[in-house]
Amino acid sequence: MSSTRALIVAIDGPSGAGKGTVARAVASRLGYRHIDTGAMYRAVAWKARHQRVDVADEAAVAAIGERAIFDLDDGRVAIDGTDVAKAIRTPEIDAAATAVARHPSVRRVLVARQRAYGADGGIVMEGRDIGTVVFPDADVKIYLDASPEERARRRAADPAHATGTTGRQLSEVATALAERDRNDSTRATSPLMIADDAVVVDTTGVPVERVIDRVLELVEKRIRM
Ligand code: C5P
Repeated sequence: MSSTRALIVAIDGPSGAGKGTVARAVASRLGYRHIDTGAMYRAVAWKARHQRVDVADEAAVAAIGERAIFDLDDGRVAIDGTDVAKAIRTPEIDAAATAVARHPSVRRVLVARQRAYGADGGIVMEGRDIGTVVFPDADVKIYLDASPEERARRRAADPAHATGTTGRQLSEVATALAERDRNDSTRATSPLMIADDAVVVDTTGVPVERVIDRVLELVEKRIRM
């Protein structure tokens, strides 16, 4: 697929909806950059814990986000030179990331950095507020969803999230996921919401290849416009 114009593709949705797999594959097929904004909140939460900074300390956490040097390309997640790709996928960081993401000043800092990544287009960005806040004028907006049961099953089976979860019951994963969904959807600043002009894709029971093709179709349609 080729385009003279490098688009911005926003993929939002709750945990376990398949955003990561889909966004990565779509970016690779288009030759675009892929940015996982959840990894940015997670890396900042990891760094705060690593430096014994209380995740409730909004100013201190925002300062970490502002100074951070991220490396987020090609599946890497590094903050200030430390590879945290594995360390950020634990139940502890799930909760800490959601806590830091509630702070308006942390969001301000990270949203500004996300806009800079997308300034020249040619990007697939995944998160919770990409189509609503980060890029309200994104060329293509997708909201991926799936039933809570399916999302919990996927999350429990995801080896990337396996660290420290050995023996974790599906019911525990489902409870933690529901709690995080509630936090992400009810927070005051940039809650998880479906943008008015987003295309909702329900991935329950749909093979991931079909979801990827559907998103690519929507991008192609936009390119032809
Ligand atoms: O997508 P992921 O589960 O890795 O995101 C971790 C947490 O970061 C989410 O639970 C959410 O609280 C926060 N987040 C956010 N806005 C984004 C991406 C992630 O608030 N754009």
